[in-house]
Order: sequence, then structure tokens, then C-alpha cells
Amino acid sequence: MEHKPKCEMCKKSEAKYFAHSVSVEYSSLEWLFVCGRCANAGHIKYDFEMSRFFANKHSTIDWMAHLNEKNWFSPRAFFNMFKRLRAAGNYYGGA
Ligand SMILES: [Zn+2]
Repeated sequence: MEHKPKCEMCKKSEAKYFAHSVSVEYSSLEWLFVCGRCANAGHIKYDFEMSRFFANKHSTIDWMAHLNEKNWFSPRAFFNMFKRLRAAGNYYGGA
């Protein structure tokens, strides 16, 4: 069964954004899924709505290509976030 992943920062609200954090506290993660309130916290350098990323195939492909153009983008950190998101949402066994 699918769960709604909770924000990795406050651990309370539903995660709605993918966020790149520059905070030392989250430096080992870099990328986190967070709620709207935490996405607006000062240490988030870059964020976007998960619903936009997953809106459709074009959107997902465009976002991944767009992120890859950024010189600070770390694919390892980004996909590590997906590993945690898969566990948090129980998104195993895709089509
Ligand atoms: Zn939060």
C-alpha cells in the first residue's frame, strides 16, 4: 500500500517539494523531500514541486535533463533521495 511520504525535515507534514539544501545539518543528504513550509526555510537553495516533476512523462524527462545541466547537481545525492522516497511511500514494484 502506498503511503504519503512525510517531510524529511519537520517529519510532520506531507512532502510536496524536492529541495536541495545547503545546510550543514543536511549536507550528507543534499536532496530532500520536504513540505511547503520547510521548502521556504532559509537553507534551501533550490526546490520544485514533486507534482510538477511527476505531472507527465514530458515533465519528468524535462526536469531531469534540466537538473543535469546545473553544474552543482549531484546525481548520486538526487537518486539517493529517491531511494528514501521509495521506502517512505512504499513505491516498490513499479510497472
Ligand atoms: Zn516540513
